[in-house]
Amino acid sequence: MNSYERHELKDYENAKLRVPFAFDEERLCAPKTAEKGKHYFCPGCQDTVILKKGEVKAAHFAHKASKTCNQETIVHKTAKNLIVKMISDWKAGKTESPKLRRKCGFKFDFGLYGEKTCEETCDQPMPDKVEQAVTEYRMSNGFIADVALMVENEPALAIEIRVTHAVDENKAHSLSVPFIELDGHTVLEKPNHFDPIRDNKLNPFTCNTCKHAEPKFEDKVTKVVKQTRIKLPDRDSCYYRYGIDKCWNCQREIILYTWPGDDWDTSPPKKKPIPQTIKFCYSRTIGHKYWANTCPCCKRIQGDFFLYGSNLFPFSRNDMVDSPDAYRQDMQKIVFCARFNRMLEKTNPASTHCVK
Ligand SMILES: [Zn+2]
Ligand SMILES: [Zn+2]
Ligand SMILES: [Zn+2]
Repeated sequence: MNSYERHELKDYENAKLRVPFAFDEERLCAPKTAEKGKHYFCPGCQDTVILKKGEVKAAHFAHKASKTCNQETIVHKTAKNLIVKMISDWKAGKTESPKLRRKCGFKFDFGLYGEKTCEETCDQPMPDKVEQAVTEYRMSNGFIADVALMVENEPALAIEIRVTHAVDENKAHSLSVPFIELDGHTVLEKPNHFDPIRDNKLNPFTCNTCKHAEPKFEDKVTKVVKQTRIKLPDRDSCYYRYGIDKCWNCQREIILYTWPGDDWDTSPPKKKPIPQTIKFCYSRTIGHKYWANTCPCCKRIQGDFFLYGSNLFPFSRNDMVDSPDAYRQDMQKIVFCARFNRMLEKTNPASTHCVK
């Protein structure tokens, strides 16, 4: 290939550049809303682009042959400018707030059973305090952010646009502000919806399900307590951990307990009064008597074997510590896990009042 042919080939390639948005004299425009006869410029190289608006093909901008522009530059620069436009449109009241896709980081360490994280995704609206977006902002560590979201004239969030290269790990981690990395093509498709490829130093995010799990759990407990006509032990004593499960026999929702101590075979629970459903009874599975949960409705023993390390009591009985802090931790884990066996959502048709 001689240099002339190479030149030709380059021109041909460049003729195929896609320019999804172009600048008029001041603003970034979509081809749909662009007007014939006006001048438009490539966000990548500032070269003139031609608006093609015909009967047959969808409106688009055509890029003249160029040695200085390429598709990567166009996507990268367009995405940056589009974010700035979205923020300014939102601040001007023309569009609704851009949303940031977040993953709930609410998690618990379940010891032997590993760590469990909620990971539910939610769209978080941009906080009102964000004033504007600035491109090519130089951070204090010398890193130039593609876009910086400004709060009180200080950068509050750095946004990096990835087209082909990921952000340098060291640079990203030495930033003093939170940062997110967005895929350039995704920004062009959904400029008002930031879905980070990765993020760093963002404030931890807790989804609504996690935030409201505790009152929901307590509501359900109250309901089950009423239906099964039992009395919940005094919670201030921080001793009996309680969860909701279905009786394996009668299928009614019931309250089951666990408590610290590894001598269930011989000694009754320490705190008195002992809940009326905890009884010293014989288990055929184990072959001897121990202090066990029973169903308040059908009176059958609820085998320990199924209770531990499950969603009901997501911890080991042996690790249980008799302290108010440990009690609260255990209860939080029970509430967190109650969601996974959908105990908080469904209403069990078998949960009618049990006849005593
Ligand atoms: Zn260009
Ligand atoms: Zn969550
Ligand atoms: Zn039962």
